[in-house]
Amino acid sequence: MCIKRYFIKVEGIVQGVGFRPFVYNLALKNSLTGWVNNNSQGVFIDLEGKDKNLSNFIYKLKNSPPPLSKIDHITKKEMELKNYKNFEILKSEENKNKITLISPDIATCKDCLDDIDDPKNRRHNYSFTNCTNCGPRFSIIKSIPYDRDKTTMKKFSMCTNCNKEYTDPTNRRFHAQPNACSLCGPHLFVLDSKKNIISDEDSISLDFTRKKLKDGYIFAIKGLGGFNLACTPYEFNVIEKLRTRKNRKDKPFAVMAKDIETAKKYCLISEKEESILTGIRKPIVILKRNIGYNLPENLAPNQNTLGVMLPYTPLHHLLFKDGINLLIMTSANLNSIPLEYENESCYANLHKIADYFLMHNRDIHVPIDDSVVRVIDNKIRLIRRARGYVPLPINEPNLNSILALGGNMKNTFAISKQDYIFLSQHNGNLENIETTNHYLNNIDHFKNIFLFQPDYVALDKHPLYESTKYGETLNIKKIKIQHHHAHIVSCLAENNINNKVIGICFDGTGYGDDHKIWGGEFLICHRSQYTRVSHLGYICLQGGDKAVQEPYRVAISYILNAYSQAESIEIIKRLYKEKGLIISNLIKSKINCIETSSMGRFFDAASSIIGIRNTISYEGQASIEMESIINNNIKSSYSYEIDENLIIITKETIKDLILDKLNNISKDIMATKFHNTIINITIDVAKRLRELYEINEIALSGGVFQNAYLLENLIHEFQALDFIVYTQSEIPSNDGGLSLGQLVAANEIIKNSMTT
Ligand code: ZN
Ligand code: ZN
Ligand code: FE
Repeated sequence: MCIKRYFIKVEGIVQGVGFRPFVYNLALKNSLTGWVNNNSQGVFIDLEGKDKNLSNFIYKLKNSPPPLSKIDHITKKEMELKNYKNFEILKSEENKNKITLISPDIATCKDCLDDIDDPKNRRHNYSFTNCTNCGPRFSIIKSIPYDRDKTTMKKFSMCTNCNKEYTDPTNRRFHAQPNACSLCGPHLFVLDSKKNIISDEDSISLDFTRKKLKDGYIFAIKGLGGFNLACTPYEFNVIEKLRTRKNRKDKPFAVMAKDIETAKKYCLISEKEESILTGIRKPIVILKRNIGYNLPENLAPNQNTLGVMLPYTPLHHLLFKDGINLLIMTSANLNSIPLEYENESCYANLHKIADYFLMHNRDIHVPIDDSVVRVIDNKIRLIRRARGYVPLPINEPNLNSILALGGNMKNTFAISKQDYIFLSQHNGNLENIETTNHYLNNIDHFKNIFLFQPDYVALDKHPLYESTKYGETLNIKKIKIQHHHAHIVSCLAENNINNKVIGICFDGTGYGDDHKIWGGEFLICHRSQYTRVSHLGYICLQGGDKAVQEPYRVAISYILNAYSQAESIEIIKRLYKEKGLIISNLIKSKINCIETSSMGRFFDAASSIIGIRNTISYEGQASIEMESIINNNIKSSYSYEIDENLIIITKETIKDLILDKLNNISKDIMATKFHNTIINITIDVAKRLRELYEINEIALSGGVFQNAYLLENLIHEFQALDFIVYTQSEIPSNDGGLSLGQLVAANEIIKNSMTT
């Protein structure tokens, strides 16, 4: 019998996910001796034993590793025999240069749910039950290596039973850093809006919360990455109360459903959607409503969808008892200010919104919002990448140390080290000091947990973005990346594409090289360079930010652009009365005007002309409400022109649309015809570009591609024409994915400058 010794290195997400006990048990099963340890490169395993057993071990290691782990590389080297007597788990070792990959926060696993449901289990009804396969990670880590004393669990010392589990390599809770029970761990309490303690006992707190939720009260509930505001979704008046207090007029609320069966009462759920809803990350999934949908209109006004998630902490599971099946669960924050995550601050800021606070004493170190996803063309599409996904890395070879700062809206930043890119969680819009500070804190935190120091900074060209202004203060080499190029490179990076493509970026806003606002762009580009070869014709955007809040201003611009003086005044008077004429005059005198080729604004204009939205109360509302009334049976469309410079001319589109409007054609028909027109234009331009540049590959990115009808139809039509189409999936196509594109474009530019 042949005895051998192998030294095995495992890299990837292999720490804090139960990897060492898995290795330990696997070694015992195969009668192997040696040791395993955690270090900043991953996990090292020194193994000695029979050849056949070693092969068995390696097969299992590769093919059935722990559920939360993600192995990137396994290397093995045969070594001289050491004659180990047994198998041991050795202490973690630190190495200042190497990266530790950290697991995202993971929804409660099946085994832990069984524990809390079992009256005989010592964790029966315990809200902070977790194990190596589930529970908080990223949100409680203060620094690395990932050990309990570097997390917010430090203040709880484990009782004898918990410690036994924690130190037993055969236990599911071996080295589960947040391990706790009701004897030694965190506890719940309830405050009212005057800060009186209503209960400081777990089961009384839960009973009280359930009862008051049923009575129509609003709660702030501390979850995994921050607080949610919760209340019943069944009563119009309760929802209205929440809207008034939160100053949130129309933006849809998401709900949390007790289980998948409850969700199916209201929504159509595909197999793919079900797998995401019930999976380990538990994001909010935007679902189509079914015929049985009967919730109050003000829950998600003018939508045909509903955002749904399933319980992802033991606390949530315990709430859904005694007849509670569905709750509104929305981020607890003041309008446009970051998510509340600390008890004191949450109470101070929200005591006029929430009637009660269900809190606990496990601190959240890093706030992280619920992620939001949608399934389009049977693929997951991240809209907001946060809890459950961050900080999963993106692999990319030969990276310089770059900090990419992202945009101003839906901000994320990205850092790169060795072969990994880490995209931050959604930081919000950098439009106030609170959000900007939150953003800067998160940059510091990433530097700290990934031991990262940038050599370069990548930034948007917009001089007024807070992210750009911050970048300008850094004393390192700056690389500016055009906004829409960054969007397309984000798509190329996600799809691992290095060659030239036709990049189609349909977006809201982005600073163009001619200092105008771009957003309906066709680029011939690869990672480091681009040429703008076609775009939506410029129109005037009057009133700066107001033009975004008030789509009718853009509509008037489009009408003025399409008709003669006299004709346009007639139409504007008919559609928009006196206020329309005032805006027309401002546009004609070029007061506070800037030219734009934004596709997002073109959608806004159509939505206003059709009569859906003249003003909005949340981003994208005009287009989202237009998409929600689409009628799939309508195949007709409007005219358009493409001039000799490949500029898209929309005069005929607007004239056709106005004609329908004046003929009282129904809104759903106009909305669908408008969408079909955009699809036709896009395909027409792409075909011409294929001819001209002999490129057959297309990359789609930009916020407008969150539109399911547009994206799905374009993908299908392009494929039917034998184009190869790349789209975004795990990385948002909106500005949440911008920093990845900035980083990868900058890295390519740096690499090129080094070789020339
Ligand atoms: Zn678990
Ligand atoms: Zn305990
Ligand atoms: Fe953008």
